[in-house]
Amino acid sequence: MIISRNPYTGEEVARLKESTKTEIDTILEAASKRFETWKKTDFKHRADLMKNAARELISNKQEYAETITKEMGKPISQSIAEVEKCAWVCEYYAENAEKHLAAENVKTDAQKSYISYEPIGVVLAVMPWNYPFWQVFRFAAPALMAGNIGVLKHASNVMQSANNIQKIFEKAGFPKGCFQNIPVGSDKVESIIRDKRVKAVTLTGSNSAGSDVASVAGEEIKKSVLELGGSNALVVFKDANIEETVKTCIQARFQNTGQSCIAGKRLILDESIAEKFLELFLKQARELKSGDPMDKDTFIGVMAREDLAKDLEDQVQQSVKAGAKIILGGKRTGTYFEPTIITGVTPNMAVFKEETFGPVLSVTTFKNEKEAIQLVNTSSFGLGVSVFTRDIKHIEDLVPEFEDGAVFINELVKSDPRLPFGGTKASGYGRELSIQGIREFVNIKTVYFK
Ligand code: NDP
Repeated sequence: MIISRNPYTGEEVARLKESTKTEIDTILEAASKRFETWKKTDFKHRADLMKNAARELISNKQEYAETITKEMGKPISQSIAEVEKCAWVCEYYAENAEKHLAAENVKTDAQKSYISYEPIGVVLAVMPWNYPFWQVFRFAAPALMAGNIGVLKHASNVMQSANNIQKIFEKAGFPKGCFQNIPVGSDKVESIIRDKRVKAVTLTGSNSAGSDVASVAGEEIKKSVLELGGSNALVVFKDANIEETVKTCIQARFQNTGQSCIAGKRLILDESIAEKFLELFLKQARELKSGDPMDKDTFIGVMAREDLAKDLEDQVQQSVKAGAKIILGGKRTGTYFEPTIITGVTPNMAVFKEETFGPVLSVTTFKNEKEAIQLVNTSSFGLGVSVFTRDIKHIEDLVPEFEDGAVFINELVKSDPRLPFGGTKASGYGRELSIQGIREFVNIKTVYFK
């Protein structure tokens, strides 16, 4: 049995029977058979269905959002925003997939030569609980529009949401088998990747899960895309607009109760403005409303599971032992973790070198630009960085210095269907969203007529 439990109340939300070997086989067979007809459909037909999916999401956003909130503790207003964003990615690919995948003529010695982008078949998505809808839709919308088939192994604590996603695609009119949820634990992932009917795998989640999945995919010579953890820096130079920057950094660290790969986890402050900045930051962090995730005014909910909250507590305690100082919060009660700010953090401390997946901000100061860039790049992660400054010309010259997959100036790092999303170093490889995302799982075919 796979059970999802409300992390705020402790109540059971859903209980699903885990798929047996035979049931997994039936799902993969249906997926693989469906590919034979789905790959021949035209973009117009796929786009009509994808637009239906967007409409279904918007029409029933309250219901889908409530399940998300019950399963993983995200405040309801943020769950609704997540469902709306999924409708956006469906619309985006409905409108752009044909253009992204149009054949491209290339002038060579041939009479005619071109590149054709063709679907590859069944793609497995191993997905996490932190954005139970968004993580899946940003894979599924481009995959289905490209003519591929999706099978989902969702996180065990959000299986009701996983079922809802399958239903949304069915209600939208996608033929049976186009998108199926496989309710299984992570121990079944290896055999699914090894199955001949599965052509590729994408995973969003922890580094250890990513490494396991990529190893199996590597042995099978199957394409993989990994979107793993992050420890994004928020770098504030002394000429930044402090009031605006504080507001943005509060959102960057505390939205989704801090459980986001692209959250700004390490505040890296010019030491000459540190005192003034932190005074304002503390004031705003104290005003964040914690409470019942179903209450529309709540901003800080609970963490998705108690084991994750305990891990975070451990990272905080280790860092304090190593000399860091808690200036706000620091306490955990069950799945609730207070918004926490830790100063005096150095690169050898857990809250700096590891990913902190909850509402904990580490603060480190720098003396000059070179030191700031070193602090950003010393992380083993490379998902994104936010830099705050008024000197736009100078910062543009500095962009190549950052090793991350994204550099956002005067803005928090966020995903947008129109822009590629993904990391470097331990944050993974490959890209989601935009034209790069839809081209990850296609056969880039060279065609040549002598
Ligand atoms: P996991 O990486 O364990 O879970 C993500 C998905 O991978 C789930 O579907 C999970 O299934 C599956 N999975 C786990 N282990 C394996 C494996 N060995 N082989 C194949 N699939 C696997 O994340 P956790 O929930 O344990 O969170 C731990 C940490 O991971 C967080 O604290 C955070 O640092 C990071 N994380 C990063 C995310 C991101 O957005 N990049 C999202 C979530 C977590 P099941 O649930 O059944 O175990």
